[in-house]
Amino acid sequence: MSYTKKRILVTGGAGFLGSHLCEKLLAAGHDVLAVDNYFTGRRDNVAHLLNHPSFEIMRHDVTFPLYVEVDEIYNLACPASPVHYQFDPVQTTKVSVVGAINMLGLAKRVKAKVFQASTSEVYGDPTVHPQPEAYRGSVNPIGPRACYDEGKRCAETLFFDYRRQHNLRIKVARIFNTYGPRMHPNDGRVVSNFIVQALRGEDITIFGDGMQTRAFCYVDDLIEGFVRLMATDDDITGPVNLGNPVELPMLQLAERVVALTGAKSKLIFRPLPIDDPMQRCPDISKAKALLGWAPVVGLDEGLGKTIKYFEGVLGTKKMKI
Ligand code: NAD
Ligand code: UDP
Repeated sequence: MSYTKKRILVTGGAGFLGSHLCEKLLAAGHDVLAVDNYFTGRRDNVAHLLNHPSFEIMRHDVTFPLYVEVDEIYNLACPASPVHYQFDPVQTTKVSVVGAINMLGLAKRVKAKVFQASTSEVYGDPTVHPQPEAYRGSVNPIGPRACYDEGKRCAETLFFDYRRQHNLRIKVARIFNTYGPRMHPNDGRVVSNFIVQALRGEDITIFGDGMQTRAFCYVDDLIEGFVRLMATDDDITGPVNLGNPVELPMLQLAERVVALTGAKSKLIFRPLPIDDPMQRCPDISKAKALLGWAPVVGLDEGLGKTIKYFEGVLGTKKMKI
C-alpha cells in the first residue's frame, strides 16, 4: 500500500472527538498539529500524545486567523453539548462561522484539503425519518439551539461556496450523536450524564417523557468514517451522514445504563428543553456506498467501554469535576 506522510491540522484537537482523531492520525504515521482554546477540551485528553515526536498542540482560538503550513485540515473546533454551546451562544455562532472562514482561508492559501465536522442538528427537529442528506431540515432559526444549528448550516454554505468559487477540496460530514471515553463528566450530553449519574448512585435525569429518540455511534466507528471520507477522491465532497442507525428512546438508554452499571439509581423526569428534537436517526446509505463504512460497535459494547472509562475517572478523582 502506498503511504504519504502528511502534515495534518486538527482544530478542537483537545476535545472528545479531536483527541481520538489525533491518536488515529498519529498511528497512521502523520504529523499532527492540534489547536484548541480549551473551552470544553482538556490537556488531559492529549496528555498521552505530548511526547510523541509527530504531535504538537497549540493554544489558539479559531475565530482568529491561523498561519501554518499543512496538507489537510480537520475542522472540529466548536462546543458540541447543548449546555456548553448555549452558555455563550454568540461565541458559538462565531466559532462555527468565523472559525470556518478562517480554516477555509487557510486551506485556500496552502491548498489543503479541508474537512468540516457538521452535525445532524442541521436537520433540526426532523419531519423526515430517518434523515437522508437530501433532507433540508426543520430548524427554528431563533430558538436557543439556533446558535449551533444555524452556525453549522452557515459553515456548510461556506464550505460549498469555497468549493464553487475557489475550487477547494472539501469534505463535509454530518455527525450524529457519538459517545465514548474522554467525554467530560460535566459534558451535559445524555450518555455521559446517565453514566456519571448511575456510577454516583444519583437519580437519572430524563428530559420530557423519555420517548424522544436518538441513535448513538461509538467514537472509534465515527473516527474511522472521518478518515475514510477524507481519503475519498476530490469529486466527493459530502455532505455524508456518519452515525449509527440503531435508534432508541432516551428512557430505554437510561434502562440500559442502569442494567450495565448495576446502579440503584431512580429515573426522574425533568422538563424537555426547548426545541429538543423528538426523533433522530441517520440514513447512512451514502456512507455505505461511498466509503464502504458502517458502524461495527454495538450499544452495549460501546456503553461498556465508556462506563469503564468513567469508573476510572470518577474513582481516581484525577479530574476536576
Ligand atoms: P468537544 O466539546 O469535546 O470538542 C470541541 C473542542 O473544540 C474542544 O476541545 C473545545 O475546547 C474546542 N473549541 C471550542 N471553541 C474553540 C475555539 N474558538 N477555538 C479553538 N478550539 C475551540 O465536542 P466533540 O463532541 O468532540 O465535538 C467535536 C466536533 O464534532 C464539534 O464541531 C461538534 O459540533 C461536532 N459534532 C459532534 C457530535 C458528537 O456527538 N460528539 C455530533 C455532531 C457534531
Ligand atoms: N437528555 C436527557 N437527560 C439528560 C441529558 C439529555 O434526557 O440528562 C435528553 C435530551 O433532552 C435529548 C437527548 O437526551 O432528547 C440527547 O441529548 P444530548 O444533549 O445528548 O444531545 P442532542 O442530540 O439533543 O444534541
